[in-house]
Amino acid sequence: MKIHAIGGYNQVGKNMTAVEVENGIVLIDMGYDMEEVVEKDQEIEELTTKETIQTGAIPDDSKIHDKKDKVKAIVIGHGHLDHVGGVPKLAGSYDCPIIATPFTMSVLRRMVKEDRKSLENELIEMEPGESYQASENIAIEFINVTHSIPGAVLTAVHTNDGTMVYGLDNRLDDDPVLGDIPDYERIRELGEEGVKAFIGDSTRVDEPGRCMSESIVSTELVHTIDQAYQDDKGVFITTFSSHIERLISILKANNERRKVALIGRSLKEYTGSAEEMGMINLDDVEVVSYWDETNELLEKISKEKSEWLVICTGHQGEPGAALTRIAKGEYPIEIEEGDNIIFSSSVIPNPLNRASRYRLDKMIKREGGRVISEVHVSGHAKREDCRDLLLMLKPKNFIPSHGTTEMLASHVTLAREEGYTLNEDLFLLENGNTVDI
Ligand SMILES: [Zn+2]
Repeated sequence: MKIHAIGGYNQVGKNMTAVEVENGIVLIDMGYDMEEVVEKDQEIEELTTKETIQTGAIPDDSKIHDKKDKVKAIVIGHGHLDHVGGVPKLAGSYDCPIIATPFTMSVLRRMVKEDRKSLENELIEMEPGESYQASENIAIEFINVTHSIPGAVLTAVHTNDGTMVYGLDNRLDDDPVLGDIPDYERIRELGEEGVKAFIGDSTRVDEPGRCMSESIVSTELVHTIDQAYQDDKGVFITTFSSHIERLISILKANNERRKVALIGRSLKEYTGSAEEMGMINLDDVEVVSYWDETNELLEKISKEKSEWLVICTGHQGEPGAALTRIAKGEYPIEIEEGDNIIFSSSVIPNPLNRASRYRLDKMIKREGGRVISEVHVSGHAKREDCRDLLLMLKPKNFIPSHGTTEMLASHVTLAREEGYTLNEDLFLLENGNTVDI
C-alpha cells in the first residue's frame, strides 16, 4: 500500500490524499487553499487546471496522472471547501465516480452550478454506515463522525492489502445539536479488525484537552443573545456558513424574539442544502445574497434595527463578505454606538485572516460597535480526542495530515507517546511525498 500525500500536508487547506494498492487507487478529497483563493479571487475562474495548480490554490495531482486508469473512485469526506473546492477543476481528468454523503454531494452540486461548470463523473451518495464496492478488491466505507458541518465521515478503504482509515476532519462530540454522535462502536471494531494505516487530523492537536461539545456553545449563545437584546440596539452575528448546527443554535437562542435576516452568498448556498435535507427551517427567515436584494433588506432593517437579528458572512473579515461591507458603509445601514457584533467563530490561523479581522474589528469599534468574539468551539479534535482516535483504531501505521509541518510534528509527538516510531510506523509527510507501507 502506498500513501501519496498530495495536498494538506504543508498547510491547512487543499487537502488531497491518494491510496494506491496493486489493483487500484482511491483519491480522497480535492480541496482548495482558501488563502490562495482569497488572494487570487476571480482570476481562478478563468484559469486552466494546470495554471490553477501553479498558483498553489489546488493540489498538484500530477503524480497520479500516469496512473489515471488505476483510479477507481474519488471520495469527498465532507463539504468544507478545503476538501471539496478543487473538485470542479480536478475531478474531470479521472474516469471514475465521486462518492460522498448526501449533504456533501448537495454542497458539491450547488458549487458546480454556481460556478456554471459541469461534472462528468457519476455522483454516488452514500450514508454513514454504508459501503461501496469500487472494484473487485476495493470497498469504501463511511463511518459517522461529528465535525462543524453535517455529513462528515471517517472513510475506510478496505483493500486486499489491508484497511486505510482517513480521518479528516472530525471532533468527538457526544452531545451534538444536529445528527448522531460518532460511531464509536464501528471505530473500535475497525481497530479490532486491523487498520493498516490511519491518516489523522492535526489542525488542533497542539491544543490540550478535549474539544468542547456544540451544545456548550448553544448555551453560551443564549446568554450572549439575551444580553445583546437588553438594549434595543442592532445585533449582528456572523459564523461559518457551513456550520448548520451553529445556525440552528442561533435561531433557537433568538427564540422568535426578533425577525431574522441571513445575508451572504455562502450562507444562502449551505443553508439551501440543509433546508433541502430537512435539517433547518428557514420559513420565517429572510435569506438574501444578491446586491440589490441585500441593499433593499438592509435599508428596511436600518429603520427598525431593534426588531432584527442579522446573521451574515464575514467572520474572518473577508473583504467581499457582508459584515465587512456593512462596516465599511457600502450598504444602507450603519453600525452605531451600542450595536452588538457577535463572532460565533474563531480566526482561522493564518496571517491574512488575522490582518483582515484586525481591520474589521477596528472599523466596528470606531463606529461605537461592541465586538463579542469567540462564541465558538472548534470543529477539530484537540489533543486528547486525537489520542482517543489513535487508541481506538490502533493503526499499524500513522500519518498525520491537515496542517502545517509544525502541526503535523505535534501529532508525531503524540503518536510517539503512544509507542510509535518515526519512519518505522509513523510518517511525517510533505505534499508530493509518498510512503510505501
Ligand atoms: Zn472541515
